[in-house]
Amino acid sequence: MGSILDDGYRCSRPRLICFRYVMLLGFASINLVPKARGWSKEGHIMTCRIAQGLLEAEAAEAVKNLLPHNVEGDLSAFCIWADQIRHWYRYRWTSPLHFIDTPDDACSFVYSRDCHDPHGLKNMCVAGAIQNFTSQLSHYTQGTADRRYNMTEALLFLSHFMGDIHQPMHVGFTSDEGGNTIELRWFRHKSNLHHVWDREIILTALADYYDKDMDLLLQDIEGNFTDGIWSDDVSSWKHCNDDLQSCINKYAAESINIACKWGYKGVEAGETLSDDYFDSRMPIVMKRIAQGGVRLAMILNRVFSDTQQGFALPT
Ligand SMILES: [Zn+2]
Repeated sequence: MGSILDDGYRCSRPRLICFRYVMLLGFASINLVPKARGWSKEGHIMTCRIAQGLLEAEAAEAVKNLLPHNVEGDLSAFCIWADQIRHWYRYRWTSPLHFIDTPDDACSFVYSRDCHDPHGLKNMCVAGAIQNFTSQLSHYTQGTADRRYNMTEALLFLSHFMGDIHQPMHVGFTSDEGGNTIELRWFRHKSNLHHVWDREIILTALADYYDKDMDLLLQDIEGNFTDGIWSDDVSSWKHCNDDLQSCINKYAAESINIACKWGYKGVEAGETLSDDYFDSRMPIVMKRIAQGGVRLAMILNRVFSDTQQGFALPT
């Protein structure tokens, strides 16, 4: 028998409570919390798998052509590439492209105010990156690719950053680095608020409900938007007129709103977050992964379309 969580999110499987406590004992001695920014590997993989399942023929073909041959057209195989290379010397410039720091407690996103790197360099944030790499990819179908651009990298960056912009704490407050400096406990182990949204909620969901099988979790997420609580919302999720930038701004604004309402709200450094926080936030995390996947597919379908349904993009 399955269960319905807060917000109507449908789990096809019962909660494996006992399993959780065995897990926690096993990990209780781990104290190191890596300071990272990005959906977990699982969050990115699921975003890309959802997107790939929604690609139309032209986009599916272009994606297959751009990916390295050894992954046989599997976009999710490279969805965490952008996180893996961000500290390499050659790619260090991409590090600020994974997030947006907004003014503390403003709970809003304003592109001209917020989209810059820590030194104030404009457009160096996840919203600017999505626009830039979409614009680069638009040259693929038009056959006008500039040799400075690497289309494969543009695809991998875009696919990754569409995940990141949907992670609410990636559009967080400046002083706490999107929750990274808010140290707390997740059940019994040390963590931080950013990490809770990147990984802990997803990993706890996998352990509690899905026997750590990501395919089963993915089936539930897809079931919830194809024939479940979100099925009426999908068309509004992917609605975007010609102005891609305003759509991207909307995704960022949604994230900071959720960060304020559900991420930061009521959380104090040093406290322990457990069942109440998990139960109420898990459906939100799953919905953001679904939205990221649906919208990534929308962008790829339009940018790789032969017909006139692309975006008005700066070239
Ligand atoms: Zn990232």
